[in-house]
Amino acid sequence: MTILKIAIQKSGRLSEKSLELLKDCGIKLPNGDRKLKMEAQNFPIEVLFLRDDDIPQYVEQGVADIGILGENEVWEKNKSVHTVENLGFAKCKLSLAIPKEENYTGLSFFNNKKVATSYPKILKKFFDEKGINVEIEEIGGSVEIAPGIGLANAIFDIVSTGSTLVMNGLKEVEVVTQSSAILISNKSLNKEKQQILEKLLFRIKAVKTASENKYILLNAPVSAIAQISSILPGMKSPTVLPLGEEGWVSIHSVVKEDEFWAVIDQLKTLGAQGILVLPIEKMVL
Ligand code: ATP
Ligand code: MG
Repeated sequence: MTILKIAIQKSGRLSEKSLELLKDCGIKLPNGDRKLKMEAQNFPIEVLFLRDDDIPQYVEQGVADIGILGENEVWEKNKSVHTVENLGFAKCKLSLAIPKEENYTGLSFFNNKKVATSYPKILKKFFDEKGINVEIEEIGGSVEIAPGIGLANAIFDIVSTGSTLVMNGLKEVEVVTQSSAILISNKSLNKEKQQILEKLLFRIKAVKTASENKYILLNAPVSAIAQISSILPGMKSPTVLPLGEEGWVSIHSVVKEDEFWAVIDQLKTLGAQGILVLPIEKMVL
C-alpha cells in the first residue's frame, strides 16, 4: 500500500500546530514517545519529525513527500519544491532592526554596514534588488545580541511582537517580508501519492475554512428577514425557523470571523436579539 510521508518540525514553534492540524483532519497517530517517524492508524500517511531547516532538502529529494514549515525557511533554502497550500499559522515578519539610539535615514542607512542574520540568502536578494551594498554576517541563532557585542551594526531576523528587540536595545526599521506556515510537496509525486495528498488537502481546506468562519444564530422580527439575509448570506442562504412567539424567527447562518464585529451593529439596528456565535469544526463548501 502506498504511504505518503509528511515531514513536520520535531520540536519548535511549528510542532504542536502541525500535529494539531493533522488531528483536526481526523488523522490518528499512536500515543507515546515521539519517535523519528510514526505511521497514522487510519490514513495512509507517515509522519517524519525533523529540524525545519532540513525539510526543504528532504522534500526535494523525496525522502519526505510533503512537509509543513515556515515560508521563510523555504525561501532561504531555495530548493525545488511545490507550495501546495498556505496554512495560516506561525505568522511572523522578517525585519531589519538597528540599535535604538541610531538615527534611521531609510534603506541607505545600511550601505556598507554589517548585518547579522540566520537568513543570508533572503537578505542578500533584498539588498541586491535595492542596489545596496551590505556585509552579511551569518549566525545560527540569538541574532538579536549581535549589535550589543559588536558583531554587527544591525540585524535581520524574525519578529512577532518585537519584545525581544526591545529587550536588546533594538528598533525595527524595515519589514522585508511576511511569512506563515505552508504545505510543500515534492515535484514528482506518483499518482497514488498525489491522490493521498489531494485527500489530505481536501480535509486541510475544510479545517482551515471552518477556523475562519463562525456559526451565528439570532432571533429577529419577521419583517427583518430579507435585510438580515442580505447581511448574512451564509453558504447558500440562511436557515430561517419560526419561533414560538408569533412574528419572530430564528436565523442561522455562517459569518466570517473577521467580518463579525462589522455586521453585529447592523444586525442590532435591524432588531436582532439573542445573538449566539459558535465555532465550526469542519466546513466543506
Ligand atoms: P529547528 O530546531 O527545527 O531548526 P528553529 O529554532 O529553526 O527550529 P523555531 O524557532 O521553532 O525554529 O521556528 C520555526 C518557524 O516558526 C520559523 O521558521 C518561523 O517560520 C516561525 N516562527 C519563528 N518565530 C516565530 C514567532 N515569534 N512568531 C510566529 N512564528 C514564528
Ligand atoms: Mg531551524
